[in-house]
Amino acid sequence: MKSLQNNFSHIYIEKNVARYPLTDLVMKKFSERKIIWIDHYKDIFNRVGQDFQSQKTSMNLILAKKTPPFLYPASDMVQEFDTPNVFYNTPVLNCIYNCEYCFLQGMYPSGNLVVFVNEDDLKNAIDMKLNDPIDPLKPTVVSVSYNTDLLAMENIMPLTRSWVEYAGTKKDLIIEIRTKSALFPAIKDLDVIKNVILSWTLSPQIICDRYEYTAPPLKSRIRAVKQALDHGWPVRLCFDPVLLVDNWYEVYTEFFNQLFLEIQKDQLIDVTLGVFRMNKDYYNRIRKRDTKSDLYYRDYSVEGNTVAVNKKERVDALHKLRSHLNNFLPIKKILVWK
Ligand code: SF4
Repeated sequence: MKSLQNNFSHIYIEKNVARYPLTDLVMKKFSERKIIWIDHYKDIFNRVGQDFQSQKTSMNLILAKKTPPFLYPASDMVQEFDTPNVFYNTPVLNCIYNCEYCFLQGMYPSGNLVVFVNEDDLKNAIDMKLNDPIDPLKPTVVSVSYNTDLLAMENIMPLTRSWVEYAGTKKDLIIEIRTKSALFPAIKDLDVIKNVILSWTLSPQIICDRYEYTAPPLKSRIRAVKQALDHGWPVRLCFDPVLLVDNWYEVYTEFFNQLFLEIQKDQLIDVTLGVFRMNKDYYNRIRKRDTKSDLYYRDYSVEGNTVAVNKKERVDALHKLRSHLNNFLPIKKILVWK
């Protein structure tokens, strides 16, 4: 995997964020790089005629100021939490990894990374939501790593650290940080915050090799999971997307068997399970961009605005995998997107 430091030959910075601490940090860290001052991030990020995939091989960094909305209702693509107060925010647009099944390829016109440095505005928006939840009897859940992999950037910008510290000061708030990163050591000095869920996406080795090759290898992710569990963090494992490759049942059940030999399963708060699915517009855009990935040339069904493995096939697959996972975990700890 290419070091993040090898990217960012150009750093674009909105003039109005010159004085933010994160801007200062980036400018010091990348003092050798070419800094270009811009009026608005969209002037760069939304330019027409960009090639997402070629930009991903050498990403540039854009620092910008987020404007409202700061918080979005959670997509129906994510698993249900036991509360209607579920949201995500976007401290960063795009990801340093480039999984072949990732919806970001169809969502954004650019492969470059945007970091919004006005973190306080995003946090204030959550404070306001906490004061006026949809269901006051239930906690508010915010995913802060939905359109990115926040922990993967921790050696460059301490964004995960900042969100963990913020969550530690709040009641009735659960922050979920989803990742494929091995960088748990970058936050291991932090006190464990029980209302922060560190969620690792894990896949069988064959899936990592074929579709997640820019992310850390499985064994590094498992090591990070074990470190987080050893420190006492709430940890979720995400088996999502399950990809129905040849012999998928054997591939996934053998993966689970090996994994639960290594992981202290009783310490997990839960696991999530879901098959490949994607917003139809993103899917079509990825196809139009001539993706080489075989994932986009399979037989899916279109349900409303979602492209997904057809219902009969996915219900059957998820049922079988859930039953197998039930050998290791109680059924109430296995959350499924159907
Ligand atoms: S780690 Fe997640 S956000 Fe990043 S490319 Fe892979 S699927 Fe997308």
